[in-house]
Amino acid sequence: MLLREVLDALDPGAEFGVVWYGKERHHKNRAGTRKSSPSPHKERVAVPVPPSGIDAATVARARAAISDNVRPAKADGRVWSLTGGVAFCACGRRLVAKRTTSGGSAGRRKVYHYLVCSTYLDSGEATCEHTRCHRAG
Ligand SMILES: [Zn+2]
Repeated sequence: MLLREVLDALDPGAEFGVVWYGKERHHKNRAGTRKSSPSPHKERVAVPVPPSGIDAATVARARAAISDNVRPAKADGRVWSLTGGVAFCACGRRLVAKRTTSGGSAGRRKVYHYLVCSTYLDSGEATCEHTRCHRAG
């Protein structure tokens, strides 16, 4: 996982962190949607990096502080600033991104962006009494 010549060039008395290169494979499925999957451990490359200068306890506290964070939606190349744990349905669940299109031919099709209760996406039907599409704008 670490090239011999890289290992030999390191100062044996110095400390190093490790950044892993190639942890995921990225590909598109038939619909053109990007997917990522973990790559096998033997294909990953360890890259030694200088220490950050931040003690391990501080790093652990910082990681714990953001462990519940949720990445905002990236659907349709938009910035969905209210997803990711900012906007919630009246039932208490998160609002998630929903993209719909009008009917018609591909060139005339209009795209609409909404925020909707996450229960809507789980079942494909409204299961929350408050489920309603809110315009993303
Ligand atoms: Zn709800």
